[in-house]
Amino acid sequence: MARYAFDLHMHSCLSPCGSEDNTPNSLAGMCALAGLDIVALTDHNAVGNCGAFLRAAERYGVLALPGMELTTAEEAHVVCLFPGLEEARAFGALVKDRLPPLKNKRDIYGPQILMDEDDNVLGEEDLFYAGATTISAYEAAGLAASCGGLAYPAHIDRPSFSLLANLGLWDPDMGFALAEISKNCPADLFRRPDLQGVPHITACDAHYLDQIPDAHQYMDLPRRTPQAALDWLRRGCR
Ligand SMILES: [Zn+2]
Ligand SMILES: [Zn+2]
Repeated sequence: MARYAFDLHMHSCLSPCGSEDNTPNSLAGMCALAGLDIVALTDHNAVGNCGAFLRAAERYGVLALPGMELTTAEEAHVVCLFPGLEEARAFGALVKDRLPPLKNKRDIYGPQILMDEDDNVLGEEDLFYAGATTISAYEAAGLAASCGGLAYPAHIDRPSFSLLANLGLWDPDMGFALAEISKNCPADLFRRPDLQGVPHITACDAHYLDQIPDAHQYMDLPRRTPQAALDWLRRGCR
């Protein structure tokens, strides 16, 4: 067993709200500087920069998982993580089919930039990825699992785009093994009756490079692989 520092929620320039400085390469470099061992890229409803991020992270000696921050039909954000690119892309295709057929208004929402691991721009996504899908919060965990992945609600303590704010409570029937909280989460949140015993992790949800935190939370794994990290989360962070 060894301890690995992790943060599993961050955005690249493919997210319209993500800084254009958040290239896959720069993001991976910042994760390495911060002392993170295991990270994940979770752009809004899209996985198009995951390949570049995984390759860049590998060069820096960081293990990166491909992921996505799914927006459910209820506008709750859900982090979805996958063991590999193939699984993430399969999930990405499912999600793309469940997005409204709207074009991104880049002047209002920001560009959705696809890049390679060497800071070259490959193009822009013109489908609007930052909106709500037709996937309900009750469907998300099963849909991610059908692609070999894991889903759990993001920043549940936040007043918007969160499961608690938008659905009102933690319902075990949603099938989530854990919750994510932000660094500003009130200390007494998990005294709520519906959250008793719910395992949780924190995440930076970085949209800018200076929001990547120094190492502060850890997972103990027999080996540093995507599957071992996902299993640790599935077991309720054990
Ligand atoms: Zn979010
Ligand atoms: Zn996010």
